[in-house]
Amino acid sequence: MEKKIPEIYGTLVFNDKVMRDKLPKDIYKALRKTIDNNTHLELDVANAVAVAMKEWAIENGATHFTHWFQPLTGYTAEKHDSFISPGACGDITMDFSGKELVKGEPDASSFPSGGIRATFEARGYTNWDPTSPAFIKDRTLCIPTAFCSYSGEALDKKTPLLRSMEALSTQAVKVLKLLGRGDVTGVITTVGPEQEYFLIDEEDYKKRKDLIFTGRTLLGAMPPKGQEMEDHYFGALKPRVSEFMHELDVELWKLGIPAKTKHNEVAPCQHELAPVFDTANVAVDRNQLTMEIMKKIAKKHGYVCLLHEKPFAGVNGSGKHNNWSIGTNAGDNLLDPGKTPAENIQFLVFLLAVISAVDDYADLLRLSVASAGNDHRLGANEAPPAIISIFLGDELTEVLDSIETGRLFAKKGKVQLETGAHVLPHFFKDNTDRNRTSPFAFTGNKFEFRSLGSSFSVAGPNTVLNTAVAEELEKIYEELKGVSKEKLADAVYALLKKAIKAHKRVIFNGNGYTDEWIEEAKKRGLYNFKSTPDVLPRLLEKKNKALFEKYGIYSETELKARYEVMLENYVKTLHIETLTLQDMVNKQFLPALMKYTDEVVETALSKKKLSETLTTSAEEKLAKTLSDFYLKISDKNEKLKKDTDKAGKLTDYLKQAVFYHDTVIADMEALRAVADEAEALIPEDILPYPTYEKMLFYV
Ligand code: ADP
Ligand code: MG
Repeated sequence: MEKKIPEIYGTLVFNDKVMRDKLPKDIYKALRKTIDNNTHLELDVANAVAVAMKEWAIENGATHFTHWFQPLTGYTAEKHDSFISPGACGDITMDFSGKELVKGEPDASSFPSGGIRATFEARGYTNWDPTSPAFIKDRTLCIPTAFCSYSGEALDKKTPLLRSMEALSTQAVKVLKLLGRGDVTGVITTVGPEQEYFLIDEEDYKKRKDLIFTGRTLLGAMPPKGQEMEDHYFGALKPRVSEFMHELDVELWKLGIPAKTKHNEVAPCQHELAPVFDTANVAVDRNQLTMEIMKKIAKKHGYVCLLHEKPFAGVNGSGKHNNWSIGTNAGDNLLDPGKTPAENIQFLVFLLAVISAVDDYADLLRLSVASAGNDHRLGANEAPPAIISIFLGDELTEVLDSIETGRLFAKKGKVQLETGAHVLPHFFKDNTDRNRTSPFAFTGNKFEFRSLGSSFSVAGPNTVLNTAVAEELEKIYEELKGVSKEKLADAVYALLKKAIKAHKRVIFNGNGYTDEWIEEAKKRGLYNFKSTPDVLPRLLEKKNKALFEKYGIYSETELKARYEVMLENYVKTLHIETLTLQDMVNKQFLPALMKYTDEVVETALSKKKLSETLTTSAEEKLAKTLSDFYLKISDKNEKLKKDTDKAGKLTDYLKQAVFYHDTVIADMEALRAVADEAEALIPEDILPYPTYEKMLFYV
């Protein structure tokens, strides 16, 4: 019989309960202090924790341990060492020391460093992050770690995120103290990432070089039906998909990942999984793990899980919604407006800090969601536009309006929703509707940053968000710190008024998919960075560099490294895509087209033999069309090759990226357009790979 869920939940995690059970009381206390207050951990504590961890891991089937980290590839990395330690008489003991727990020295030379470290300087360090629990995966004890170079620069995504959480906490505590919240000693960032993905048959996948090499289809005509009937969204789960989802849930639960919601998404074969939120750092680790487990479990069910932002043209791509809030260690959510937001000064101050941050650092937020894959989605009427704006909803917008104009805010009573069906229970309407077109939407007691791509590590966007909000809080603190208690309320209102005036341009409650909004946003002076090469240089802008340096999030060297890695990544992605497309066209598509043309010509000839009077047969006409296509496609393929060669000769990475974006992508799209037209004429048994129809509708 299947075990009950509470019995299996978290069984593969070295969580608080295990620590409490396994560790001596004083050690547990010391460790807890480190986790909760970011204090330094002494080696004797680490030694004791290592012993308990090893025992627990071995009891649960582990033979190896690894420092698990997140290099700039955006994926996770691990190098396994077994616990065994050979003795003198051919025997072994199972060993694991505090030193091994705390520090690792992987060869760092093959991870992207954006020039921080030359290949000959191979040494890198991994450092245990005790705030994210260790877990067992594939019989290996995985220890979440940060990853840095020999000279201490962060080579990973975790370190800057942890720094940004600390910066936000420090600034928030200062402001809270001014507002009379002396009880708060720390503030945590909370994140709940909703993960979208596609499932397709592994057999189909194996036949498509484009999916194998690039994660997305580079060719493929739309079937007669796409997503227009909207019958997939929230539709009943197919039995095989449901089996997959169940096993996925169970595996995630064992790892203590609180998978909560699952459903079909808009596009055929597209699904979503959302966990209950966690502190940002843990949420990032768990989302990385979730993506990995998704892929693994998919294989067991004969599927491949696609996490690319745009696997199929013509149907929606996949994103990741980053639900984000800040809470005190006293347990309250600082973005909860309460019953009377207009009177909730604490809420208003934090709300305004977020609004100001999004307006002042919209370029960085846009940049944090930029990638070759995500460029296909943003602004394409399936995902938020590339313009960063905030949806606040009617009530809060009115609250801010009334503060700005000094009017009294007239709170409307709760509106009872009239469904017209009297058997349904009555309930009260939420204060605001949802807005699916906004990149950054207030959703009741948190913000939802909706522009992230499905394959992203959520570390980057949250690092930007935390840092930018920390900066706005610091500004608020500076303005308020000298004000006497009696004058504080007035000073806060004056400050709010000023902030609303300065930043209300970033608030937009309307439909973000329209051309009118693009025009309007331009008038408001909001950025509209359309592509990755367009926005990337903003990372090194003076104001942005200053922001990161001020809070010690990225040094100049670390920032430059990220810039290099992002550019390199963009260029490499495009390079692989263009080569793959040319390869498929040359070796698969054109030969198939030729084969079919030959068949048609043969039929035409034999028909002609039968009837001399026949002038143009249908076959002749088709053969002509097909060979016209052949010529057009090979012309376009040649142009693509020429431009790809040109791109390869550019030595400046940014120029290369721009050229790929402006020229090579355009070539690829033009080539694809004719090839897809031709594909529609070719019988399925002659086509060298499965069609969209086969992949999307027969799973
Ligand atoms: P929807 O699809 O309606 O946006 P979901 O329930 O799918 O909502 O996802 C909402 C996500 O927001 C969940 O992961 C949830 O845990 C998360 N969330 C809720 N409250 C907070 C919070 N205070 N901070 C961060 N995330 C939160
Ligand atoms: Mg959502």
